[in-house]
Amino acid sequence: MDATSRGATVELTEVVKNYGTGAPALDTLSLHARPGEFVALLGPSGCGKTTALRTVAGLEAVTSGSISIDGRDVTDQPTNKRDLGMVFQSYSLFPHLDAQANVEFGLRMRRVPAGERRERALGALEMVGLGGFGSRFAHQLSGGQQQRVALARALVTRPRVLLLDEPLSALDAKVRVQLREEIRRIQTELGITTLFVTHDQEEALAVADRVAVMRAGRIEQIGTPEALYTQPQTPFVAEFIGLSNRLPGTVRGGFVEVYGVELPLLDPTVAPGPVTVALRPEDVEIVSEGALAGVVVSTSFLGSLRRSTVRLPDDTLLAVQHAVGLRTAPGERVALRFTGACVSVKHEENP
Ligand code: ATP
Repeated sequence: MDATSRGATVELTEVVKNYGTGAPALDTLSLHARPGEFVALLGPSGCGKTTALRTVAGLEAVTSGSISIDGRDVTDQPTNKRDLGMVFQSYSLFPHLDAQANVEFGLRMRRVPAGERRERALGALEMVGLGGFGSRFAHQLSGGQQQRVALARALVTRPRVLLLDEPLSALDAKVRVQLREEIRRIQTELGITTLFVTHDQEEALAVADRVAVMRAGRIEQIGTPEALYTQPQTPFVAEFIGLSNRLPGTVRGGFVEVYGVELPLLDPTVAPGPVTVALRPEDVEIVSEGALAGVVVSTSFLGSLRRSTVRLPDDTLLAVQHAVGLRTAPGERVALRFTGACVSVKHEENP
């Protein structure tokens, strides 16, 4: 396998998909993926991630709107005219073919001569770390290995776009992390534009150049993992990305007051009045003394840090992230300080 593949732009313009069973699965969705970019589609179950991917794949016709690949309108083109590689959640290997024959399949369809087919298939298996596994059948491979073969099969035709629909979700945690790193490495090496559907926010943040957070058939926000985490534009994104405390607050005079502490507003246009404030666990500190105090309910060791849950006097539970060296115990009284950041605020009547 060589590194001559170059990614194409992928563009969805105001795509609507109506299955006729209720609200549209895609509701004027627009997305522009740049050549070589890795874009994760992230969102809760039923928000339309898989449908979006399937419309790009040509497996689902759009109700309206258009899809183009590399500037070419493919809205009405069949899948095999779209220059794509695809990997799905379920291991979709042909059980009666060995790994090499599975990888060769797409080349056989394209009538690539046997010698070149074999060479390219072996190269692709090598690339996904399965050199020497070519004669194994699916039942002789682990789940992670089967998904590697599926990836080799998707890449061997040198497509310009790679579509991945929850390819890791059937794997155990350790293999998931290994394989997602591997996918990212190969994708970067080949420069192939990739759309990756996942409902796992950690996975999306870890691998993507940009993450599109979807809700009810639309993209609520798209941005780099860091931008989404630090500057969520809506409360939905703030709560979907990362862990957030929800605290009562009051907006007044350009600030939001939370338990007597004034915090800056990320969005200065929020109207004055009572609000719910989202605050990251790392934006609360345990200090030796302070006006805000609570009682530790539980504490967990997370390897490189600890997270404690503290009950405030009004019974609100607050997650606090702190150094491993700072040990807390259930029942202990602690003072707290806000570091000064809050990620979003929302009015209750506007969920
Ligand atoms: P999940 O993470 O659970 O897979 P998703 O975000 O991928 O969810 P989709 O599978 O795209 O969501 O589904 C979006 C909406 O469209 C859902 O309300 C779903 O019930 C509906 N839907 C999906 N496929 C069909 C279909 N073939 N016929 C009718 N409705 C469908």
